[in-house]
Amino acid sequence: MEKVYKKDDILEVTIEDMSDDGLGIGKADGYALFVKDAVVGDRCRVKIMKAKKNYAFAHLEEVVDPSSFRINPLCSKAKACGGCQLQAMSYEAELKFKENKVKNNLIRIGGFSEDFIESIKEPIVGMIKPQSDNAESEKQGPDESEYCPYRYRNKAQYPVGYDRSGNLVAGFYAGRTHDIIPNTDCLLGRDINKTILECLLSFMKKEKISAYDEKTGKGLIRHILIREGFKTGEVMVCIVANSESLSKEDLLCETLVKEVPAIKSICLNVNIKDTNVIMGDETRVLWGKETIEDELDGVKFKISARSFYQINPVQTERLYKKALDFAGLTGKESVWDLYCGIGTISLFLARKAGKVYGVEIIPEAIEDAKENAKINGITNAEFFVGKAEEVLPEFYEKQSNKINFDDVKEKDMLHPDVIVVDPPRKGCDEKCLETMLNMEPERIVYVSCDSATLARDLKILCEEKYELKAWQCYDQFSRTVHVE
Ligand code: SAH
Repeated sequence: MEKVYKKDDILEVTIEDMSDDGLGIGKADGYALFVKDAVVGDRCRVKIMKAKKNYAFAHLEEVVDPSSFRINPLCSKAKACGGCQLQAMSYEAELKFKENKVKNNLIRIGGFSEDFIESIKEPIVGMIKPQSDNAESEKQGPDESEYCPYRYRNKAQYPVGYDRSGNLVAGFYAGRTHDIIPNTDCLLGRDINKTILECLLSFMKKEKISAYDEKTGKGLIRHILIREGFKTGEVMVCIVANSESLSKEDLLCETLVKEVPAIKSICLNVNIKDTNVIMGDETRVLWGKETIEDELDGVKFKISARSFYQINPVQTERLYKKALDFAGLTGKESVWDLYCGIGTISLFLARKAGKVYGVEIIPEAIEDAKENAKINGITNAEFFVGKAEEVLPEFYEKQSNKINFDDVKEKDMLHPDVIVVDPPRKGCDEKCLETMLNMEPERIVYVSCDSATLARDLKILCEEKYELKAWQCYDQFSRTVHVE
């Protein structure tokens, strides 16, 4: 009879594979065990926590024989914190894991053959340290030492609260709970964060300013958000509070700026709702400017406390250059940039295109996009607010029904040379894909943060009219399971 496994059983397994969300997968007589913190190649002793018919989630009790890919996590909080899933894996192995994840989805969901997918692959771009501001060398196959998969985040949001002994702390939520793991020096964030957080915590203690308590809804400070423009060095601190104002706001700002002169903006975001959403609707400048500036490949961006802005600027610049390269622009093309956010890709494209049309669902982001175009002197980018799956089809239906139209611009919009899409994880809506197929652009560039939905959409696009020409992974979120 087949062995039945149950909760609390202890067994020894070899980790043969990794799940998409970074759990090690071991097998006992064909029964799959998903083990957090285990690395492919580990021989380990695990304890079953939750047993299902064909698989179980198990706790890593002991690594009996470590994998050659196993390293000591740099961060002492790596196991408790829910943030990095791959810290115990060498960075080389992480890059391989990510590329394989995308490849497997293209094969399994996209329906492409392995040989074909391998033949058009361009090697994954890992988090290589930029050599200098301009001269970036993208050497093929760098040594592990050239990689720097830490300190890349330009934005961090730290919850503030109390630990079990009642000490005021800032840090990160432990996986799946709202217990705060105290950590003012997350290795994915900038080292300046530590100085700012410790300065704020000690100010709160001294001035008896309380932290918010989710359970009672009482207390003041909920989160501290820090953003840094990598190119400009400008720093923004935004304090999210359960109140319209704080006592001694002026003293607080003075203390912070004295400690960290790079701070150019201090804001208070008001969030008095009983909610998991971090930011409230109202933001007030306490000191300095309303926005900070950053630059990607010479294009300037104004960033406010609530703007969406890619969190890894070093890799983003590389990714967008590649998107531009794939778009194959010569200077006269008409291009749609769907899911354009604050116009980051649109403005990159506009410098090399005839005309760019951006579409984005969030009105404030479109306001930012227009402002960003203006400060860069870019006049050939136009932006529309709305859902890509509504704006594009509505435009297409309206224009394609015109019997004869002489408007060259509308004709260009109807039959663009290139369509770029950069949707959220759920991918493109079918209606959007259908319209793209009808518009028949010469080329489509698909930037994706979820390879499963990418593969699903590529299957639709490549069924009749299009051919997949190339694909490449960019590691924007090192040490986590996410990949662009
Ligand atoms: N290209 C931008 C943003 C990418 S993130 C950048 O790189 O900065 C995806 C964007 O799609 C977000 O800004 C989100 O607000 C937007 N979005 C989500 N659903 C959408 C939809 N149905 N139509 C248009 N935009 C959408």
